[in-house]
Amino acid sequence: MPSTQNKDYYGLLGVKKTATAEEIRKAFRKLARKYHPDVNPGDKKAEEKFKEISEANDILSDDKKRKVYDQLGFYSDQIDPAQAEAAARGGYGRPRPQSGQQGVPFDFEGFDFSNFEGGPAAQRQTGSSAAGGGWGGFRDIFSGIFNQAGGRQPQSGPQAGTDLEYTVNVDFWTAVRGGTARLQILRQEICPTCHGKASSGAPMQCPECHGTGHVTQMGGRMKFNIQCPRCGGSGRVQESCPTCHGDGTVQRAETIEFRIKAGTRDGQRIRLGGKGNAGVNGGPAGDLFLIIRSGSHPIFTRVADNIEVSVPVRVDEAALGAKIDVPTIDGRAQLRIPPGTQSGQKLRMRQKGVASASNESHRGDQIVTVEITVPQLRDERSKEILREFAHLNPEDPRTVLWSKV
Ligand SMILES: [Zn+2]
Ligand SMILES: [Zn+2]
Repeated sequence: MPSTQNKDYYGLLGVKKTATAEEIRKAFRKLARKYHPDVNPGDKKAEEKFKEISEANDILSDDKKRKVYDQLGFYSDQIDPAQAEAAARGGYGRPRPQSGQQGVPFDFEGFDFSNFEGGPAAQRQTGSSAAGGGWGGFRDIFSGIFNQAGGRQPQSGPQAGTDLEYTVNVDFWTAVRGGTARLQILRQEICPTCHGKASSGAPMQCPECHGTGHVTQMGGRMKFNIQCPRCGGSGRVQESCPTCHGDGTVQRAETIEFRIKAGTRDGQRIRLGGKGNAGVNGGPAGDLFLIIRSGSHPIFTRVADNIEVSVPVRVDEAALGAKIDVPTIDGRAQLRIPPGTQSGQKLRMRQKGVASASNESHRGDQIVTVEITVPQLRDERSKEILREFAHLNPEDPRTVLWSKV
């Protein structure tokens, strides 16, 4: 019976066998940042490495799986920790099924004792086909994420494509008035060669298990008979598609053009249905989500549908009242300054803000903050007038402070 190789998961993550869960998590995150496919587009080596460290992390970050792995040197979903422990302890000949009576609940179904011959616990079985395989029983874990290149059995059944999310920067005016924007995205499209089937040619005998559907792996001094990870136990595989290497999809850059509605707010999400990654085996495509980041303006500040602006006002305008022109997003508009307006006072200009993107009948306001400017007096006559003014208005504006001290 052929067998698969055991992997050094600790070595892959670069941690000690005694590493804590936190150390393993940190080591994985560090490596994942380096090898993630998004960081290395099209780099098959990095992708392979990422798969390996993901696999190592998957096993070592799960207490139950780690226990099995620590005891056997490999992991399979078909073996529970109690079985692994028994196998690691086994050294006095063939364990008897009735050992369950001693309170260890395990059963030996699925074990293969036919080749049980003792030997060092760390013995590794290297079968003739081991070099071609080299991965454990992770089909269930990884089939949803990755497809192994090189003859991996394609998935059966449709799988929906994943969603994509991009941030789009648009300038102030495009967000306010609406318009179109363009963006280049990378998305998974259905492979044009295999049309998403991921395989090509007729099914053939699985080279890993030679068609038996099973492989053996050494755990301690026992031999485990586990489902072949390459063919998933079917004993047959298909050549993977040369274009997509068995993924069923290929990555393509695509420029999309989309409409920005007038009044779009900063942080707003736009959903483009079906523009995400392609599905596999006839599964629907995911959606594309665009997060809008609106640019700033030198004088206008947008707060939801309102526009805020600071406007300088002369002392006489503020004191006597005036009608002044102020800038709005639609151009000049007249604003009445009431007599006795103070610096910092806010005046509302109704319906002079941004048209709402969600409610057509609604429009925001413009909020003007009055900024009183003090005149620079250059001539004697002006100074004289102001002195006279002070004489007529001797009130101390700090009285309010003294009353509170
Ligand atoms: Zn097989
Ligand atoms: Zn293909």
